[in-house]
Amino acid sequence: MIGGGLAGLSSAVALAEAGHRVRLLEKRPHLGGRAASYVLPGGEHVDNCQHVTLGCCTNLEDFYRRVGAAEKIRFFDRLLFSTPDGQRGTMESFALPAPLHMALSFSRFPLLDWADKFAIARALLKIATNGGHPKDISNDANGITMLAWLQKHRQTEGAIRRFWEVILVSALDEQLDRIDARYGIDVFWKAFLSTRAGYRIGIPCVPLGDLYDGCKEAIRMRGGEVLLRAGVRGFQVAGNQVTGVEREDGSVETADYYVAAVPPDILPELLPADFVARQPVFLNLRNLRTSPITGVHLWFDKKVMHEPFLTLLDSTTQWVFNKTQLNGETQLNGGSIEARGQYLQLVISASYRLVPRSRQEIIELCISELRGVLPAIRDAKLVKGTVIKETSATFSPAPGSDQWRPAQKSPVTGLFLAGDWTSTGWPSTMEGAVRSGYLAAEAILSDLGTPHKFLQPDLPAEGLSRIWASKS
Ligand SMILES: Cc1cc2nc3c(=O)[nH]c(=O)nc-3n(C[C@H](O)[C@H](O)[C@H](O)COP(=O)(O)OP(=O)(O)OC[C@H]3O[C@@H](n4cnc5c(N)ncnc54)[C@H](O)[C@@H]3O)c2cc1C
Repeated sequence: MIGGGLAGLSSAVALAEAGHRVRLLEKRPHLGGRAASYVLPGGEHVDNCQHVTLGCCTNLEDFYRRVGAAEKIRFFDRLLFSTPDGQRGTMESFALPAPLHMALSFSRFPLLDWADKFAIARALLKIATNGGHPKDISNDANGITMLAWLQKHRQTEGAIRRFWEVILVSALDEQLDRIDARYGIDVFWKAFLSTRAGYRIGIPCVPLGDLYDGCKEAIRMRGGEVLLRAGVRGFQVAGNQVTGVEREDGSVETADYYVAAVPPDILPELLPADFVARQPVFLNLRNLRTSPITGVHLWFDKKVMHEPFLTLLDSTTQWVFNKTQLNGETQLNGGSIEARGQYLQLVISASYRLVPRSRQEIIELCISELRGVLPAIRDAKLVKGTVIKETSATFSPAPGSDQWRPAQKSPVTGLFLAGDWTSTGWPSTMEGAVRSGYLAAEAILSDLGTPHKFLQPDLPAEGLSRIWASKS
């Protein structure tokens, strides 16, 4: 197994559970890949970026359960929104069947006007009554963008800016005019319309790195091992078969099966150049574009926020997470910042416009936005601030992008692929990564003649959504 992100870890754990000895080689000194955490020199644990999951992410939940991390995720039923001047609105589920479970809080939501709400309700109904597959979207390269679909369904400017954009830019890390409508509609069907529990937001209450503690044990129990700082320089290929991997220290490892769970821009570099040039599967990977996410970490000398997290409307800042409250004071403050202080983590997805800006400018912009949302900031001192720009955070779910995503069984004998970018039907998320890992494990086991199912089904549609899904 090459790569210790969620794809590599989930595949390794699944194969170990099926009784196989797995050796996982990870280049960095820690596990988790893009969903990892570090310890700063002052002792604070900092996530690469805040990561959240949703109730509809059934495979990630299954993986956390397998490695004993499920208890480290806290689920919230209330989504809290704020305007720049601090007006709040909530969305939550009430005792009505899907897809009407959020209708009451939606109708009372104060941050959208009635024209916006009618337009949104009409479009949501279109998605729900078609069981998540409206006839006017296609799964092929000719797919339309989400923005085009919304315009076609006469969405108001307010509905697009304060509803569709807020949810989809965060969920898919891309702007509406670059998202394939198939992906956008899937988010609403799976998270908000098909079931009552799909939208529940799960937030780790430990640093991300702590979620993977159980992986090493699961792999070791079957005689395998996890090696950190063990980068791979390349695959050795003879004919159409992988015969070994060369590590960065020059040593060569051999195995019955190889899983490449590295990012899509790295994989072709690990294969012989002439081989890549002959294989469209590897050549096509360069067509997958990426989009950025910016994380802003702010430590204040006093408490400035009472909610666990907030979604901001009409702001550059999209999410604010109260890390002190979510993770517990002692652990996060690491003793270095007084317990009465507070650590906030801000997330900005599809942050194209922030990429060229300096870290200081970004911090100043975010704090100026937060002053209206969290007035206590005006009397607080910023003790420390840092910005993490991930310029290639996720692959962009552009129309037609699915055609470049390869299956987990590669055209090379012995080589299997895992990664959120492989063909899973899901966007670039932790759920997509775990699905890919399970699919790679399933492909190896069927190659061995011992098929096994790891992939978990989606949450079953409920209420009216179930009836509509069965007819579509
Ligand atoms: C800033 C940010 C915020 C995000 N927020 C969310 C979120 O809230 N919710 C969500 O679901 N998803 C989120 N994502 C997406 C999520 O992190 C990814 O989809 C997922 O972690 C991808 O896992 P992966 O295993 O496919 O790839 P990666 O995590 O990229 O793992 C690849 C691994 O391969 C290793 N590697 C590379 N080259 C070599 C080599 N030569 N030898 C050995 N090892 C190598 C890397 O070090 C890495 O550990 C976010 C991503 C980012 C960047």
